[in-house]
Amino acid sequence: MPEKTFHIHTIGCQMNVYDADLMANALMAMGYRPVTEPEAADLAIVNTCAIREKAEQKVYSLLGRLAGLKRQRTTMRIAVGGCVAQLAGKRIQRRAPYVDLVFGTRALERLPELVRRLDAGEGPLCDVAGGEGVMEMDGPRQAVVQPRVSRFVTIMQGCDNFCTYCVVPYARGREMSRDPGRIVAEVQDLVADGAREVTLLGQNVNSYGNKEGLCGFAELLRRVAAVEGLERIRFTTSHPKDLSPALIDAFACIDRLCDHIHLPVQSGSDRILARMNRRYGRQTYMDLVTRLRAVRPEIAITSDIIVGFPGETEEDFNQTLDLIKTVGFDGLFAFHYSDRPGTPACRFTPKVTLGVKRRRLEALNELQNAATLARHRSLVGTTVAVLVEGASKRCDQLDPHGGEAIQWTGRTSSNKIVNFSQPSSTEVPPANVGDLCQVRIEAAFAHSLLGVRAPEAVGLKGEACHAA
Ligand code: SF4
Repeated sequence: MPEKTFHIHTIGCQMNVYDADLMANALMAMGYRPVTEPEAADLAIVNTCAIREKAEQKVYSLLGRLAGLKRQRTTMRIAVGGCVAQLAGKRIQRRAPYVDLVFGTRALERLPELVRRLDAGEGPLCDVAGGEGVMEMDGPRQAVVQPRVSRFVTIMQGCDNFCTYCVVPYARGREMSRDPGRIVAEVQDLVADGAREVTLLGQNVNSYGNKEGLCGFAELLRRVAAVEGLERIRFTTSHPKDLSPALIDAFACIDRLCDHIHLPVQSGSDRILARMNRRYGRQTYMDLVTRLRAVRPEIAITSDIIVGFPGETEEDFNQTLDLIKTVGFDGLFAFHYSDRPGTPACRFTPKVTLGVKRRRLEALNELQNAATLARHRSLVGTTVAVLVEGASKRCDQLDPHGGEAIQWTGRTSSNKIVNFSQPSSTEVPPANVGDLCQVRIEAAFAHSLLGVRAPEAVGLKGEACHAA
C-alpha cells in the first residue's frame, strides 16, 4: 500500500508550532510522510488560532481553498485542530461539511486514534472533549516544523485567569501542567537531537505546577538548567501577578537563563487594569521591573499592550505612555482592542472608536520604535554572543562595512536578531548552525542588528558584551 502523506498549516503562537510538531510526530509514527504543499497531502490539517480578530472567518477562507483541492482528489481528508476547533466544534462541520475531522486543543493525544478511524472510513468526526489533572503527554521526538537548534517545550496548557478580553481559558481550557520528569526527559532528548536552546511555553508559566502540587516554576528551571549540553533557556509567557521572588532569584543564580523576560503589562492605568481583571497595578509592575534589574541589570524586558480597551480615556492612555517611558522596554507587541466573542469585555462600554484606537496605537508605536532603535544603536561597537540558527535571509547582500557576504542569522541572549558575515581571514573558524559565536555589532535597525564574526572567546554566561 503506498505511503500516505500529510500537510499541516499552522496559524498563531509558539504553542501552536509545538503542537504542529506533536501532530507531525504522531502521524509519522503511523507511517504518514510530511509534504510541503497541501496539493500533495492525503490529510490536510489546519492548526488554528483564536487570538486574532475574525479568526473563525479566516479559517473558513483557508478551508474553502482546501475544499477545491478535495473536489479534484476525493480521497483527500481535511482536519481542523487548535483553538478555533475547540471553540467552534461541530459548527465548523455544519458550515464546511467537507471537513472530515475537528479536534480540539485537548484532543491532540487522541489524534492517532481519530486518524485511524478516518482511514477505516468513519467520519465526519468531532472531538472537543476537555481534560483535567497532570498532563500525561510526551513531547515531539523530531523537529519537523521547528528549527532544530532552538526548540519549544510546552510545560503547561490552558489558563485560569480569565482576563476579561481573552479567549484562551475557553479555547485552551483550565490550567494543566506537565510532570517535571517528562519535561526534563524531553529536554534531554532535544539536546541529544541537536538543540542548544529551549523555550519553555505556557499561558502563564509562573503558576506552573501550583494547582497539581508539582515543583514550582523556579525549581523546574533549575532542573532544566542541569541538562548537560543545553546552552540557553527561555520561557514565555509570564503573568506579573504570579512572578515570584523565587523566579527573580533564578535570574540571579541560573547563568543559562537568558537575559530576557516577556512580561505583559497590557495597560499603564490602574483603572483599566482592574477592568481587564489583571489583578496587579502599575506600581506592582514597576516594582517587579526594578527587582529584576537589580539581579540582572542587562535583562531585556518586552511586553504586550492593548490600546483602546472599552472605557479607556485619554488620561488612561497617557498613563500607558508614561509607563512605557518609565520602564524603558526593549520591545512591545501592541494591538488595538477588538471584541472576542464570548468574553466579558464584549459587553463593556463605552467602546473606543476605531479612529481613536488607531491614533493611540500609532502614537504608542512611534514612541516604542524610537526607544527600540536607540537600544539597538547602543549595541553598535560591542561584541555579543549569538546562537546561530541558520542562513540569513539577507545572504544575497554584502555587509556594507566589511564587504563580506552576510551569511548567518541568530539571536543574542537578550533575544535580539543578529545577521552577520564571516570574515575570510583564517583566524576566525567557519561558523555552523548551533554554534555560539562572538559577533561585533556594526549597524542597528528597527528589528535587527548587523555584525561581523569576531575571534574572541565567549564569556562565562555566553554573553560577552563589552565596548571594543
Ligand atoms: S493570563 Fe494570559 S492567557 Fe490567561 S486569560 Fe489572561 S491574557 Fe489570557
